Amino acid sequence: MTQQSSMQKPLSDATSQASLWIKHPLAIYTANDQDARNGIVIQGGQIVELVAQGQQPTHPIDQVFDAQNLVLLPGLINTHHHFYQTLTRACPPALNKRLFPWLQTLYPIWAGLNEDMLRAATELAMVELLLSGCTTVSDHHYLFPSQLHNAIDIQVEVAQSLGMSATFTRGSMSLGVDDGGLPPQSVVQTEDEIMADSERLASRYHQAGGDIQIALAPCSPFSVTPELMKASAALAQQRDLLLHTHLAETEDENAFCLSSLGKRPLDYLESVGWLQSRTWLAHGIHFTSDEIQRLGHAQVGICHCPSSNMVLASGICAVNELKAAGANVGLGVDGSASNDHSNLMQEIRQALLIQRLKYPADEFTHLDALHLATKGSANVLQRHHQGEIAVGKQADIALFALDEPRFSGSHDPLAALVLCGASQAHSVMVKGQWKVRDKVWLGGDLSALMAKHSQAAQTLYAP
Ligand SMILES: [Zn+2]
Repeated sequence: MTQQSSMQKPLSDATSQASLWIKHPLAIYTANDQDARNGIVIQGGQIVELVAQGQQPTHPIDQVFDAQNLVLLPGLINTHHHFYQTLTRACPPALNKRLFPWLQTLYPIWAGLNEDMLRAATELAMVELLLSGCTTVSDHHYLFPSQLHNAIDIQVEVAQSLGMSATFTRGSMSLGVDDGGLPPQSVVQTEDEIMADSERLASRYHQAGGDIQIALAPCSPFSVTPELMKASAALAQQRDLLLHTHLAETEDENAFCLSSLGKRPLDYLESVGWLQSRTWLAHGIHFTSDEIQRLGHAQVGICHCPSSNMVLASGICAVNELKAAGANVGLGVDGSASNDHSNLMQEIRQALLIQRLKYPADEFTHLDALHLATKGSANVLQRHHQGEIAVGKQADIALFALDEPRFSGSHDPLAALVLCGASQAHSVMVKGQWKVRDKVWLGGDLSALMAKHSQAAQTLYAP
């Protein structure tokens, strides 16, 4: 056995069969009721043993990582984002606007997105998430202007080079301004193009239960026709894919839907075959009690996006009622034009704070907030091999040091992460491979990436 402190060189990787004991964490959140207070053993990219308090591993141990000053969490999972929006953070013309005018302001800017810009945005957003303790991402990309037909191919390439797990959703918009929709015609595609590309991407990249997964994701049910919604559901059934869209984000959307379709959003969703367990919805705020029961009965997933909902003054997701009804609820930072950060650890704190405006303090705890971003999100993305600390789960972990002034004097380490406001992971492992050590990304030059990304943002939008 070799002793190795957390300050030394990176340890085991996914190809190695060497066993690694992450020993004696200061605290651990497993997202279940199992005892791993003396740490976990990792081998071959998986968690192979939980070591209970006062116990020693039964597996032969090749390497030891001393975690006595670190809090261990399952790798965080982000269930909704628009990576390209990192290029329009805090963008002057869109500041302080409601959802629809905010979108109408940004669409013409986003129409200039090209391949290099999307590559830089995807890489920057994924690294930003990784540094916050996130190991699995989902991105909802629905902009395909003529210069950017291969957006999802680019995103898959980036995820593979970073070694992170990702569910990329092939988004779509087919109703432009000419047909009564919100986006300019230059960013919408024909429905034949959308379905052909969806089939191509599913065939080429989707790995059921694997690192890279593809889902189908019209931007909203009102940015495509009912025929495209139905065709997407049929393809999802045929290829065993998930379905994703935005729904019930604002009251304006309810009014829009009632006036243009004669139905509330959920009734419309049901009418096109989407009220089912393959579907997960971003936001999911403005539902009636009856609608919440229907969502739960259908086991629909909901991605709670607290910061975005606060920035756009959209409302508060009824997380507890949705969970009680049987829906899966996870967490997402949402796109960077409405957050505007991609820090999932900070988003856990935002979830706690916004839910405390809806529920009494003892009905939504710091552990409930941590659950949303771990096992809750894994359930939403149906990545059941991830999101918790248990034997047989993928070795995705995030370790946090309580070494900043904001933590000084804190007592409960797990509560301190959420309440004092952790934002930067000390070390992050994906599938047994270290990606962050001592708060440094090991996969590349962060300054160079930020310079490239900032340049792309300047090219996309100049006042
Ligand atoms: Zn969104």
